[in-house]
Order: sequence, then C-alpha cells, then structure tokens
Amino acid sequence: MAALEGAEAARATATGMAAVTASLLGQLRAGDHVVAARQLFGSCRFVCEELLPRFGIASTLVEGTSLEEWQAAVRGETKVFFLESPTNPNLDLVDIAGVAAIARECGAKLVVDNVFATPLWQHPLALGADCVVYSATKHIDGQGRCLGGVILGSRAFIEKGIHSYLRQTGPALSPFNAWVLLKGLETLPLRVRRQTENAAAVADALAAHPKVKRLIYPGRPDHPQAELVRRQMKAGSTLIAFEVAGGKAGAFRFMNALRIVRISNNLGDAKSLITHPATTTHERFPPEVREAMGVTEGLVRLSVGLEHPKDLIRDLEGALAA
Ligand SMILES: *Cc1c(COP(=O)(O)O)cnc(C)c1O
Repeated sequence: MAALEGAEAARATATGMAAVTASLLGQLRAGDHVVAARQLFGSCRFVCEELLPRFGIASTLVEGTSLEEWQAAVRGETKVFFLESPTNPNLDLVDIAGVAAIARECGAKLVVDNVFATPLWQHPLALGADCVVYSATKHIDGQGRCLGGVILGSRAFIEKGIHSYLRQTGPALSPFNAWVLLKGLETLPLRVRRQTENAAAVADALAAHPKVKRLIYPGRPDHPQAELVRRQMKAGSTLIAFEVAGGKAGAFRFMNALRIVRISNNLGDAKSLITHPATTTHERFPPEVREAMGVTEGLVRLSVGLEHPKDLIRDLEGALAA
C-alpha cells in the first residue's frame, strides 16, 4: 500500500472505521479542535460529530466544497482537518490541495479518506495531505470477503501518534484477513481500471435516460466540478449517483427490478451493487438534513463491478422501464 500510495509508512487495521478513528484519536487530545467536511461517510460523521466531543475534542462541520468555510472554521486549537473526496453518496469533490494549504498555514494536519477515489486515481499525499486512510473492505478486497483498513503517511507522522495508539488499543488486522487483502492487491489495478471503464460506459448510457432526473459521475464533462476532477484525479470513479424519477417509490421499484445489479451497502466490489442512501447509510439524518446533503428520496448510488457493461446497461434500462 505504501508503494501504491507513494507513502513512507503504512499501518493496517481491522476495518476502515478503525483506520479513521485511529488516524484522528492518535493525534488528538482534550482541548483540540477538528474541522471536517459535512459530506462524510455516516460513521466518520458520527466520530467527528458525536464521539470526539465526548472526550473534549471540539469539531466543526463545514461545507467541504467551500474553501472559505474551511478557512472561517479555523481556531487557535485546530489540530486536524478531515475530508473525503469524492464524497458519499453525491460524488462532490473537495479541493484537496486548497484545503491542505489552509491546514498547513494554521499548523493542522490533513487526513483524507480516499476510499471513493482508490489509490489508482487520486494521491492525496502529493496534493499536500498528511495522512490517507482506506477502508480495505471496499476496492482493496473487492470481492466481499473481509473487512480491513489502512493508514498511510510520512514515517514521522505514523511514528508520532499512530503507531503507539494502534499497538496499545488493539484494532489490529487479523493475519488471515491480511493475507486475503494482499491477494486483493495483486489484482487491484486491473479491477479498478476495468470497473472505472464500465462505470463511464454505464454513466454515459444512463445520463440521457428519460427516467433519470440527475446523474453525477466524476468522469463526465457535465460533473459540476469537472475542472477540479481534471486537476485532482486521474480518472472518474467506480461509483455513479443518480436520481430516479418517482421519488422513493420509483427508486425502490427500479432497484427491485434489477436482475444483475445487487442491492447492498458495500461498494468497490467485483459485483455491481446499488444502494438507496436515504433509507440506509443516511437514514439516521432528519429529512431536511438529508435534503441539504443532496440525499433525495429518489437518489441511488451504484457501485459498478466487473460484469460486461452491455449486460449492466441492459439490466439498468430494463429496471428503469419497470
Ligand atoms: C466503508 C467506508 C468507511 C468504513 O469502512 P469499514 O471497513 O466498513 O469500517 C469509511 N469511509 C468510507 C468513505 C467508506 O466508504
């Protein structure tokens, strides 16, 4: 992982959430302050919004796409910035180099959750981040077999806070899962490359479909931040977000009519998986907060797998017709 990422040091953890939690708690103490993007994987948002404050670590959530909000949230005690890009489920981009410059100026460390981009398409350390975290459960395993996580950074960063936190608190990766994930790494570039090509083909086929109200794919020129995508990423993503006509009922009818694509909250798998964020990953948020996050009732998130793109497109079009 260190070689793929261009990092000096790396540590493996039992899950992606263990990696995120360690990357934050390993550097923080009571009295410190964290600035994080509002658009976070649900559990990451729980850690920042609910867990850290219980231990006297204040946090401010900002609109991740606004550099002004990152700047305005800085306090004397700000020690860590945390973001993911592209974000779940709306695939917004956060300007990593821009946020890194603000972090550097105030002496804070920037942690980037790079799960959606994968180590193939985005290198946060080269863009100025101090730490990159992964859920290896996703593309790194890529076959739905086990959980895992990775924390990467400079040798000094890992040895200062992360190493002893991991050693003393026990979120270790099991040897068997380490072996499974290493087998996953052997094919990671092949899988992610093909899944990204498939996602691009599927996104192009669905973008003009009359039953699709809005489609977001970072590899398309109509992505709202297409210029930033070109600057920050080497390719789109294996994920597509789109809004099905007919709200929640329309989305459910569509998902239930799929025959190849499976309903699951996992992503990055060799099998195509679809999820309805409003009733799963983002269910705990009140409807008005969900709306503000762009998680509408008709929105679905599709993780494109290794099936033939023509089969996938036929399956998706058939289900949209239903
Ligand atoms: C899945 C995921 C996590 C958490 O990973 P687990 O391995 O499930 O604990 C964190 N961040 C993002 C963006 C994810 O997709």
